[in-house]
Amino acid sequence: MPQTVSFAKHAANVFLHLLTQCNLRCRHCYINPAQHGTERLRLATAEAWMAELARRHPNANLILLGGEPTLHPELPEIVSSARKLGYGSITIDTNGYLFHDILERVTPAEVEYFSFSLDGSTAERNDAIRGQGSFEACTRGAKRAKAKGFRTSLIFTVSALNLDDLAQMPPLLAELNVDRFFIQVIGLRGQAQDQLDLQLTRDQWLTRIPAIARQVARLGIAVTYPKVYLSAGDAFECAGQVADNYFIFPNGRVYRCPLCEDFALHSHCFVDNRLIRRPPITEQDLFRLTIAEGCVMNQLIQPNNMRYAPDGRPLYRIACCLLKEEIAPGG
Ligand code: SF4
Ligand code: SF4
Repeated sequence: MPQTVSFAKHAANVFLHLLTQCNLRCRHCYINPAQHGTERLRLATAEAWMAELARRHPNANLILLGGEPTLHPELPEIVSSARKLGYGSITIDTNGYLFHDILERVTPAEVEYFSFSLDGSTAERNDAIRGQGSFEACTRGAKRAKAKGFRTSLIFTVSALNLDDLAQMPPLLAELNVDRFFIQVIGLRGQAQDQLDLQLTRDQWLTRIPAIARQVARLGIAVTYPKVYLSAGDAFECAGQVADNYFIFPNGRVYRCPLCEDFALHSHCFVDNRLIRRPPITEQDLFRLTIAEGCVMNQLIQPNNMRYAPDGRPLYRIACCLLKEEIAPGG
C-alpha cells in the first residue's frame, strides 16, 4: 500500500541548479530564464554555496540539476567538493545525454543516484514532448549508468499528453532495471505556465496513478508520487513551514517552495556567498496564510484545480506539492 511520507523534520534537501542551459526544449520545462538567470555557477561559487548550506544542515541530501547539469564541465569537481563537505547523499538529475563523459569521472561511491527524465514509453511518445532523439539518449544513458554500477531512478512527468502512455512504462522500467520510479504531476510552471490543457483532472489522477504505481512496485521498483489531493482526515502541512528544502538558482535566488519559482518571491538569496533572508513580502509570508483549499500557492497559480460545493465550500484540499506517497519494492 502507498505510505504518505511526512516531511523529513531532521533532513534537509538542497536542490542546486548549476546552470539553466540545456540541450533540450521540453514542453513543460520549469526553467524560466527571466527569473532564474542564464549564468553557469563557477566552481568556487558552487563550493561556497554548498559549504554555507552544509554548515547549516550537516548531512543534507544534495540534488544537482540544471538545465542539464552534465553540461557543466566541472560537475565532477563539484561532486567531489560536496562529498568532502559531508553531504549525506548526492543525486544528479539528467536528461540522459551525460555530457563530458560524466560516468567516467564520478564513481558510485560518490553519487548515490543518477536520475533520468523520460516522459514516454517509446521514442514517438517521449520525443513529442522532450525533443527528437531524447528517448534514445535517455534510455541508452540509463543503461550505461546501471552497467557502471550506479543506482538509477527515472522521473516521468504526467500530463494530458502522456497519461495514457504511463500504463506502458512498467516493461520499460523493468528493461532499464531502474531502482526507483518517480511520477510527477504537471504544474502550470515555467514553459507550461499557460498550458492549461496539459493538466490532469482529480478523477484522472486518483483513478490512474496509484494503480500504475502499485503495478510498478510489484516489479521490485520503489515508486514515489505526489499525494496532490488530501483525504478528509489528512492534516495539511506546508513544507515551507515545517521542512528544510532549498531550491537554489545560479542567479542567487533561493526558494523554499518550487511553486514560487516563476516569481520574485524567493525568501532567501546569496549575497557575497552568504545566505541572506529577504525582507517581506516573500513566499514565507504566503506560507503562513491558512485557507480552506490547502496549498496557498496552488490556489494562486492554478486555482482551476479546485471544485466547490454550491455553498462555496471547497470539495477537497490540495496537499503540499512536496508531500509524497511511497510504495516499497514488492508493493
Ligand atoms: S531536460 Fe530538463 S532542463 Fe532541459 S529542457 Fe527538458 S525539462 Fe528543461
Ligand atoms: S507547495 Fe504549497 S504547501 Fe507546499 S511549500 Fe509551496 S506553498 Fe507550501
